[in-house]
Formats: sequence, structure tokens, C-alpha cells
Amino acid sequence: MKKLVVITGASSGIGKAIARRFSEAGYPLLLVARRIEKLAALDLPNCLCEQVDVTDRHAFEQAISKAEAQFGPVECLINNAGVMLLGQIDSQDSGEWSKMFDVNVLALLGSMQAVLEPMKTRQSGTIINVSSIAGKKTFPNHAAYCGTKFAVSAISENIREEVAEFGVRVTSICPGAVETELLSHTTSTEIKAGYEDWKQTMGGALIADDIARAALFIQEQPQYVCIRELVIAATRQQ
Ligand code: NDP
Repeated sequence: MKKLVVITGASSGIGKAIARRFSEAGYPLLLVARRIEKLAALDLPNCLCEQVDVTDRHAFEQAISKAEAQFGPVECLINNAGVMLLGQIDSQDSGEWSKMFDVNVLALLGSMQAVLEPMKTRQSGTIINVSSIAGKKTFPNHAAYCGTKFAVSAISENIREEVAEFGVRVTSICPGAVETELLSHTTSTEIKAGYEDWKQTMGGALIADDIARAALFIQEQPQYVCIRELVIAATRQQ
């Protein structure tokens, strides 16, 4: 009997593809994002959809309680919700930096805190954090975004070490470029065009399902096997 998996940011892109893959594999799901109508449109069985802004810790915890009442304890948390607002350091609005750190880093810490204690007590559970290759190397106009993703990778590895003795797994997935809505929130048309050109020169990006298959592979290892980090990108990406 498969146990509850929580996926943040499941209303589009990678999170949506992960929701489909995990549902097909038989997992009951809690899906959270702000665009509830997009979550509902997925129309998956054994699936609770809740409108949650992940920066609202209280709303996230309420959604967890509701899902656990229906499906039992959280077995796996996939912290996927994220924003990428590319910009030049000398002109970018500092509000964009705050937004990225709030969603990509602080909300991720909060959601881990919300589920870790019961996992440690049960000596079972998995947290998969979606970092990025931008959490391993830098790119032009990515300073704040890279800052958040380097933080996600560091936080994931640090917490993995802390909970290993309790049999709980923590993994970071580091995707290269994936075709999703992520770039659309960047305001500079010049930066967006440059990013699209870069994807063309390497012959295109991954699709979201490529990451979803990787996430399922991580979860489906026996509990004593922890894939600490999985870096995945289009073959032609440098
Ligand atoms: P999308 O923009 O398609 O998806 C982002 C998801 O995050 C949406 O479901 C969105 O839902 C959710 N989200 C954003 N802010 C919030 C919030 N405050 N509260 C709740 N949910 C939120 O992009 P991707 O699928 O590409 O991004 C998923 C993850 O993958 C991100 O962490 C991203 O950094 C990472 N990544 C993506 C890469 C790429 O090239 N696409 C490469 C490497 C990593 P809603 O708007 O409905 O709230």
C-alpha cells in the first residue's frame, strides 16, 4: 500500500509532471499551489488539492493535517515550488530577491520542519528538494536565483546528514534547463530572449516528465538507499 506524497508547486511544469507520474505509480497525493483550478484540472484519483501559498506556513500545515486525516502520515515531501526572476544586479528590484528567497529557500525550510519530526519518530520518510544546476554553478543574470538554489543544495545536504541516523532520506534534484513556465516571470525581455537563444543553441531543453521519472526513481529505492543528489540535464547542455 503506497503512502502519502506531498508535492508543492504542482499546478504547472515539473510539479505537475511529478504529480502525474506518482499518481500513476499508485501514491495518494496532496498537491499544493496558489492556482487551485490548475491543480483540480489534473483530476487525479486519491488526490487532495489545496490552495496554499508555500510562504504561508500555517496554510501549509493545515493542508498537511487535512491530507493526513484522509491518507495517513506523510511518507514523502517534494519541495518543488519555485520562482526564477532573472535580472542584472545593478538594476533588479530587490523585491524580486526577497520573493525568490521567501519561496525557494524559507518556505522549503518551513515545509521540511513541518514534516520531519514525525518521519524521524517513524524512522521512515523521504524529502526531495528541487534545486537546480544553478545550485552548483553560476550563470549570467542569475545571481539571486543561483543564491537561492545553492542554498537549497546546501540545506538539503546539511539536513540529510542530520536525519540520516533516523533512517530518513533527503535528496536534491538538480535539473538543467527544462521547458516550463519558469522563465515567463522574468521581466526583462532581453534576458528572456537571451535564455531562449541559449536553449536553441544546445538543441532544446528537457521536458518536465524527464524530471518526474527521476523523482519517482529516487522515491522507489528501498528506504535504506538514499540518492543524495541527482543532476540531470539535456545531453548537449554544457
Ligand atoms: P513553473 O513556473 O512551471 O512551476 C512553478 C510552480 O511553483 C508552480 O506550480 C507554481 O504554482 C509554484 N509556486 C510558485 N510560487 C509559489 C508559492 N508562493 N506558493 C505555492 N506555489 C508556488 O516552473 P518549473 O516547473 O520549471 O519549476 C519547478 C521547480 O524546478 C522550481 O523550484 C525551479 O526553480 C526548478 N527548476 C526548474 C528548471 C527549469 O529549467 N524549468 C531548472 C532547474 C530547476 P502557482 O503559481 O499556482 O502557485
